[in-house]
Amino acid sequence: MNKPLDAREILIDQALLAKRLRQETSGEVMTDSASRGRYATDASIYQAMPVAVFVPKTADDIAAALQIAAELGVPVLPRGGGTSQCGQTTGTALVIDNTKYFRNVLDLNIEKGYVEVEPGIVLDHLNLSLKQHGLWYPVDVSTAAQATIGGMAGNNSCGSRSIAYGNMVHNVLGIDAWLANGQVAQFGNYANSSGAAKELGDFVKHLAHTLQPEIEAHFPKVLRRVAGYNLDIFHPQSQLPYTQDGSVNLSHLLVGSEGTLAYFKSLKLKLAPLPKHKVLGVVNFASFYKAMDSAQHIVKLGPTAVELVDRTMIDLARNNPSFKKTIETALINPSAQTPEAILLVEFSGEEQAPLLKKLTALQELMADHGLPGSVVSMPDAPLQKNLWEVRKAGLNIMMSLKGDGKPVSFIEDCAVPLESLADYTQALTDVFAKYGSRGTWYAHASVGTLHVRPILDMRRDGAQKMRAVAEEASALVRKYKGAYSGEHGDGLCRGEWISWQFGPKITQALAEIKHAFDPKGLFNPGKIIDPPKMDDVSNFRFPPSYKVIPLQPALDWSAWNVQNNPITEETTAPGTGGDPANGLAKAVEMCNNNGHCRKFDAEVMCPSYRVTRDEKHLTRGRANTLRLALSNQLDIQDESSPLGSDAIKEVMDLCVSCKACRRECPTGVDMAKMKIEFLSAYKKRVGHSLRDLAVAYLPKYASTISSIPLLPAILNLRNHFKPLAKLQEWMMGISAQRSLPVWKGRTFWSNIQSNTSYQYSPEELSKHKGVVLFADTFNAYFEDENLQAALKVLKSAGYRVHIPQKSRHQQNQQEKSACSKEFCCGRTYLAAGMVDKAKETLRELVDHLAPYAQNNIPIIGLEPSCLFTLKDEALVMGFGERAIEVSRQAQLLEEFLAREAKADSLSLHFQAASKPVLFHGHCHQKSFGAVSPALELLKLIPQANPQLIESSCCGMAGSFGYEAEHIEVSKQMAEASLLPSIRKAPDSWVVADGTSCRHQIADGAQKQAVHIARILAAHL
Ligand SMILES: Cc1cc2nc3c(=O)[nH]c(=O)nc-3n(C[C@H](O)[C@H](O)[C@H](O)COP(=O)(O)OP(=O)(O)OC[C@H]3O[C@@H](n4cnc5c(N)ncnc54)[C@H](O)[C@@H]3O)c2cc1C
Ligand code: SF4
Ligand code: SF4
Repeated sequence: MNKPLDAREILIDQALLAKRLRQETSGEVMTDSASRGRYATDASIYQAMPVAVFVPKTADDIAAALQIAAELGVPVLPRGGGTSQCGQTTGTALVIDNTKYFRNVLDLNIEKGYVEVEPGIVLDHLNLSLKQHGLWYPVDVSTAAQATIGGMAGNNSCGSRSIAYGNMVHNVLGIDAWLANGQVAQFGNYANSSGAAKELGDFVKHLAHTLQPEIEAHFPKVLRRVAGYNLDIFHPQSQLPYTQDGSVNLSHLLVGSEGTLAYFKSLKLKLAPLPKHKVLGVVNFASFYKAMDSAQHIVKLGPTAVELVDRTMIDLARNNPSFKKTIETALINPSAQTPEAILLVEFSGEEQAPLLKKLTALQELMADHGLPGSVVSMPDAPLQKNLWEVRKAGLNIMMSLKGDGKPVSFIEDCAVPLESLADYTQALTDVFAKYGSRGTWYAHASVGTLHVRPILDMRRDGAQKMRAVAEEASALVRKYKGAYSGEHGDGLCRGEWISWQFGPKITQALAEIKHAFDPKGLFNPGKIIDPPKMDDVSNFRFPPSYKVIPLQPALDWSAWNVQNNPITEETTAPGTGGDPANGLAKAVEMCNNNGHCRKFDAEVMCPSYRVTRDEKHLTRGRANTLRLALSNQLDIQDESSPLGSDAIKEVMDLCVSCKACRRECPTGVDMAKMKIEFLSAYKKRVGHSLRDLAVAYLPKYASTISSIPLLPAILNLRNHFKPLAKLQEWMMGISAQRSLPVWKGRTFWSNIQSNTSYQYSPEELSKHKGVVLFADTFNAYFEDENLQAALKVLKSAGYRVHIPQKSRHQQNQQEKSACSKEFCCGRTYLAAGMVDKAKETLRELVDHLAPYAQNNIPIIGLEPSCLFTLKDEALVMGFGERAIEVSRQAQLLEEFLAREAKADSLSLHFQAASKPVLFHGHCHQKSFGAVSPALELLKLIPQANPQLIESSCCGMAGSFGYEAEHIEVSKQMAEASLLPSIRKAPDSWVVADGTSCRHQIADGAQKQAVHIARILAAHL
């Protein structure tokens, strides 16, 4: 039986708490098990069910919530992005989420170089707003796209460039915070402080003076020490002074306090000028030890970063087609053996010339240390940017390991003095080997903090191994006079090591500080003070008692149903992982809560979160809800169908199945496929609506409608008479605000001459320049001009085209659709949760295409969502090798043509364009990396000057944007960037391959976007 996640013992408080919060504040209050469960985890191995979740709208809401919680004796846990790695953001408390409404810049003083912000602002957003002023906030954590300033201050976070800029504690100038008694206190310069802040400051000063010898003896003398409270502000022990003028700043007491002392209301931050120039020197090492030993010498050159990438990661990148080219730019000799390690040494400054000299100095330094010619100089910004991306992606690949054993973060940020780094890493590697594991090393060599995660299975013997490794690692840290907690904080995994690090007297002093700030112990209890054991399994997300419910998914998830070898990282055969949910649970459990889906920068993931900012409309929120449901940890009314329950419906409702998470989630959580599972289970429970049937069977009845005289025209009246649209909305839930695709009497099928035209056998095609062009329902029936254009382009380029059509025999075998000659990808059935029907139709298509694929004939499609079904869902439907062969050949028109052009095999000549081209990529096109080929191809049209519209999902997402209950969210998604970009360029062609994208653009920007095939054909 899994750990019950209900809060029975605090039920009375919970009900009263919720009632008072609802009555006395304007914030959102959540007490259901699914909502609380979504806030029960951070990016650690721990889980604790909140008492309730509160999303305040105003500062008064927070003040009132703190007051109510104090009166009811309910603990409080402030939360930012929830990306902490140590469990500090989990707790049986009232969790207060700052991220939705507290993300404003309050004051910016460019002359004095500071900014004041609310705690929920995300670092990247802040830096984006500062860029125009040539400034930035330089604590550049890897989670910059989702980490909040409040959370960063809570953890005393540190960035890759901390050697130059320091940690959070070095860059916070002041914090206004609510104390446990509800009072707001201003923590800043001690000398100028007053009121409660001064009193607390005086108290800590007294403690610090009494304990000065202890502080000097026990505080590690390294930059990267984030354990406990910063009792040393009065006698700084950090390598870098906390303040530039040597003054004492009381806000530094709160930095790193992990929500245990006070609730940050606003933070004043020190800004730095954005460096104008950067150069990178990549040092190649044949020995890992030598690389580690060299860091101490390299830092003397004054770099802004020295980051490690080890051989495992280099190899991972070299084996990945997307990264191979970039990583090889960092290698002295790509054809020689992979180096054991590379160090990325960055120098930055106002002028380029001195930086180039630094690169020369680096080369000389390495030559002096016996490594002449070991440095790749990289002065060009784009090359540098690509390489930093690879360094990040390497970690992502590592984290995507399937199976119950996972790389676990618990000793990955010990910091040791640089002169001991080589010996420390060697000794720790031996410890891993002793416990049957292995670590991949990466990150901040400049400051002696190397990330390394042994692979542990927390459901089995992980806890024992974790303790054994931690004890040996701590002995090494002590031996080398380092800090056990050097970046990610204490939380639950390092809390017990605070007394180990500082000794009993300082530990007692920390408890006294906590008591002075929070006498009733209501702020995030069990963190820093009185922490539990790190291996207390009752705090684990996956304790040994964790059980998954037996379930037969609709799709084949066996690829996830595996276990792994912690040393070789090889996985067992598909289907052997022992998952009672046949792989679905293990796929869901791939979400490690790192929060990357909360990002707002380029790319797509996650459009529903971008417009709602609700955890439940986020990939992570969905994955967590699914995990809790599949492991029976939710209060679900209909227990016979947890997967198809209302709790899952709530989180899946706004998932637009854009497939962005499939590509952008570091661990490959594929929510679009999971939504198919949900829909299948849900519709089995509640049945299909009229709208479901209308959408699902569209490919079946399209030919009938178009073949009955006048019927298309009658149906199209709906687009012209509002009452008809309203009636349809009332009957079917299709929004009256939308125009529907226009039915036609003459379609692609009736326009192509006869059944026998465009019919070639695979053998015939393989003798000529042959391709298959898949005519999907949408383009064939509603926009046949796209297919005609594609035919024109392909024929002009000399290709012989086969268009899949059913034989008479196949048509006659189908009872009701005897007149229908076309194949279908099954997409509309999938959208309605009819997986069996989808399989049936898709199997026919795959069977037809397989012989062509086996003859290496390209299979081309126009509609991204239809074409990519062949590369995606078709592979998890049990079709075997045939589907894999078809998927290898399946490609969009532009992918095919761009590849041909690259190979110099494309004989097409385009006329110059009369106006520039804006390109909007369909989400599935982006998910499969098929946007660049479109741009490359469009560049072949002289003067087209194609520009990519940086946008997430257009909001239409198949039928989603037509649904009455989703119309507003759909419009908001479109307004996020797509429609404004189009409005800004009225004199451009807008090219969009997705039928529904074109509709969204037409409805929202009154602009007729066209398929790429038509632009190409128009310029022949
Ligand atoms: C893949 C990955 C990479 C990472 N890389 C780095 C890295 O490079 N450097 C680094 O330092 N960390 C890193 N981290 C850890 C984490 O992302 C950072 O610590 C981050 O700053 C946390 O921000 P957050 O908004 O998610 O905070 P949360 O996890 O939400 O909160 C962190 C702590 O701050 C407290 N807190 C939040 N808001 C307030 C408030 N208003 N008042 C008082 N206390 C508050 C919380 O209670 C909690 O104890 C990484 C994590 C992951 C998963
Ligand atoms: S869904 Fe993916 S990106 Fe989002 S938190 Fe989970 S693992 Fe990270
Ligand atoms: S498929 Fe798209 S909308 Fe759904 S969770 Fe993934 S990124 Fe979000």
